[in-house]
Amino acid sequence: MADLTAALARRFAEKLAAAGLTDPGAAVAACLDDRLAFSRPSPHEELLAGLVDRLGVGCVLLAPPAQPHRTILEFLAGREAPAIRPRDCETRTFFHDIPVIAEPTVEAAAAALSRRKGAYLPGVGILAHGALSPEQAFVTVSSVAFAGFVKFFADFLAASRAGTVDAAYGAAFAAACRNLPPPPTVVPHLARGPFTDRDTMLAAMAQAGRATVELGLVDSVFGNISYNLDGVLAISQTGAALDDLPGAMDLVPLDGSSCAGLTASSELAAHAALAALDGRQAILHGHPRFAVIMSMDCEDLATCPRRERCHVDCARERYAGATPIVPGEVGCGPRGLVHTMPPALAADGGRSGVIVCGHGVFTMGAHDFGDALAALCAIETSCRARYFAALGIPTETP
Ligand SMILES: [Zn+2]
Ligand SMILES: [Zn+2]
Repeated sequence: MADLTAALARRFAEKLAAAGLTDPGAAVAACLDDRLAFSRPSPHEELLAGLVDRLGVGCVLLAPPAQPHRTILEFLAGREAPAIRPRDCETRTFFHDIPVIAEPTVEAAAAALSRRKGAYLPGVGILAHGALSPEQAFVTVSSVAFAGFVKFFADFLAASRAGTVDAAYGAAFAAACRNLPPPPTVVPHLARGPFTDRDTMLAAMAQAGRATVELGLVDSVFGNISYNLDGVLAISQTGAALDDLPGAMDLVPLDGSSCAGLTASSELAAHAALAALDGRQAILHGHPRFAVIMSMDCEDLATCPRRERCHVDCARERYAGATPIVPGEVGCGPRGLVHTMPPALAADGGRSGVIVCGHGVFTMGAHDFGDALAALCAIETSCRARYFAALGIPTETP
């Protein structure tokens, strides 16, 4: 069993590298089965073993971040210790803040990880735990990297607008920019619709989900995808990995006879609302980073009385280019994105995409995912260009 556990741990370590979150072979997982198994030998074995024991969990993952995440997290940890406090919605929802561990001891790390799913140990990496399997720890590592990235770039723009960028932030920003992966430009060809049978449709959804992750437009366990086939909505399950969808999709009749799958997440309820409202069949939702960053850019942040509530009930009508930015909470309450997002996407005879403030992007395609993916890609590319333009940086390499 311990061999199986170690193999599973290695698989998630490889997924972190494939996502660009760690360098290949850098992550190490300690998983408990009949005995403690490590995915590879590590100088931090004692720390990891101590944490598994102290926290009483099945798995602890140590992920030394790849660039630019290392520059970003080292900077944020140095500036914000004892905790990094991101403002994006994913973080608000899932872990509130990222504790910065003061010293590389079991004691200090266990104190941080007993109150949060993940924490950052300066000079070492992201530490995360999972009750049973490495999967939860993997999700936490990708959330920490995403939250740090969004906070670092969003705060830099806000500081730049306020004239408060200091030399250290400027230097970290330049270093992070040098290590940014290039924007996605080539959108792969996807299966052409309309799809008329379930197998073809499910294969097309799996292909589109994989492409969305590979283009860096979402981290694999976030985001979702759906297709309306004759009044039955095929939709990815909550928490499904978008790059591994076969077997992780639900079929939900849109006539109201079943709510299966739609109660757990406001995102899934939003898919059903869109599908019922719009003749277009394909819906894609991702968390592209610069679209999220630009959605949080408020030009009068210093004076806006509602700036802490922007993502819930911003009073201004906002756009990134032609793409509307709408507020919307996670959850199905009165301010949930299920109420704010679908009308904005269906307006003007059907827009290609909408940004939900501090959260992510929803796009639609008439009969297949080609246009939906192209729109997601175009919105991210344009938000990235807008970000650097707002800083007065004409090209991306400062
Ligand atoms: Zn989302
Ligand atoms: Zn606002």
